[in-house]
Formats: sequence, structure tokens, C-alpha cells
Amino acid sequence: MQNILGELKEGIVFIVSAPAGTGKTTLVRMLCQEFPCVVQSISFTTRKPRPNEIRGKDYHFVDKAEFEKRVAEDDFLEHATVFTEQYGTSKSFVEKERVSGKHVVLVIDTQGAQQLMGKLDAVTIFISPPNMEALQKRLSHRKSENKAAIEERLSWAQKEMSTAGQYDYQIVNDRLEIAYKVLRSIFIAEEHRSLRRKT
Ligand code: ADP
Ligand code: 5GP
Repeated sequence: MQNILGELKEGIVFIVSAPAGTGKTTLVRMLCQEFPCVVQSISFTTRKPRPNEIRGKDYHFVDKAEFEKRVAEDDFLEHATVFTEQYGTSKSFVEKERVSGKHVVLVIDTQGAQQLMGKLDAVTIFISPPNMEALQKRLSHRKSENKAAIEERLSWAQKEMSTAGQYDYQIVNDRLEIAYKVLRSIFIAEEHRSLRRKT
């Protein structure tokens, strides 16, 4: 049976960046739930797990020594320090999933995305909040950061948003259902690009 997505022999790498609290985790989760052929890359981080997070599913949580060892062994496609903690994308995970026909989504910050632009064949997507007030509200409602951490994220968000023009696509996550429709359309269109079809 023909599928709307997931018909390629080898998958596509998608890079999604957005300021913390914009809704990228929510949107990418919706995509993975609707399409089994879409997987999110599981990054390594030195950050401690949040109460609702599962080891090996949300992240591979490692200590600084283990992270540095992986950097030295060239295990990461990219890595960056974000809000004092280190984060890195596993080369082997991305390649294994991609060659098995899955579309792999890297939900990474703007520093990591910039390291990969022009180096990796990937479709890049930037998601923005409708405005800073909405972003602040979402961060507060999520209750995963304290006040100081929220302030830090809001000031960093301004910097990240200034890089949005470097991405292939920009989506505003105002109404979740609309933002999701746009995101899923991008995935479908990218899979149907002539150059990806080896006919
Ligand atoms: P991110 O991964 O970008 O840090 P999350 O996906 O964790 O953001 O979303 C942050 C909070 O905002 C969550 O509580 C989520 O339910 C909420 N949220 C996401 N999208 C919207 C939206 N369009 N409107 C209102 N709240 C949203
Ligand atoms: P959080 O700690 O809230 O899960 O993520 C903080 C930031 O780190 C987010 O912007 C997230 O996208 C980013 N991030 C998560 N994994 C990686 C990664 O592997 N590389 C980079 N560069 N950023 C990452």
C-alpha cells in the first residue's frame, strides 16, 4: 500500500531549531506519532534528567568525562554547549536510521545547526514563537525551569531568532494545529522532491 511518507529507500535528515519553550518537542512528537517513518535523533547530554524524562529515550544522559571521550572519538556529528551543559548528536544513530529508510529529525540548537549547514545534506527548519510574551508564558507553564533559567532562555531566544533566515523553512507556532500542518507539509514535500526519487 502506498504511504504519504516513508516511501524512500534512504531517509532525509531534518534539522529543527527553536528557542526553548516554542513547542518544537511537542510538534516533533506529533510528527513521530503520525508517521512511524519519522524518528527523532536521541542526543547525548551532560544535563541531569528532568522528572518525566526517560534515559535512552529522551536523551542519553552521560557525565562530562563520558561526553569528552565521545568528542575525542569523533562520535558526534555536531556538539555544543547550551545553557552551561553539553549536547551532541550521535553520528552512528543518525546514519543507521537514515539508511534504514527513516527520516531523522535533529532537534538541536542554533549553534549545532550552524555547524551542520553546508556540511550535511539536511533540510533545516526554524520554529518561532508568535511573540516573546507567549514564549514566556509557555516556559512558565511548563514548570521545568526556575525564574532565573527562564530569564536566561528568553534572552538567548532573541539571539537564536536572529538566525532564523539561515534556515530553509520558517514556521510560527502560534496555533499548534496550524504549525503542525505546515511542518507535516514540509516533510511530505521534501520527500517528493524529484532529486530524491531515484526513478
Ligand atoms: P520546546 O521543546 O521548544 O522547548 P515544548 O514542546 O516543551 O517546547 O513546549 C513548551 C510548552 O508550550 C509546553 O507546555 C507545550 O505544551 C506548550 N505549547 C506548545 N505549542 C503551543 C502552542 N501552539 N500554543 C500554546 N502552548 C503551546
Ligand atoms: P533541553 O535541555 O531543554 O532539552 O534542550 C536545550 C537545548 O539544547 C534545546 O535548544 C535543544 O534543541 C538543544 N539540543 C538538544 N540536543 C542537542 C544536540 O544534540 N546538539 C545541540 N547542538 N543542541 C541540542
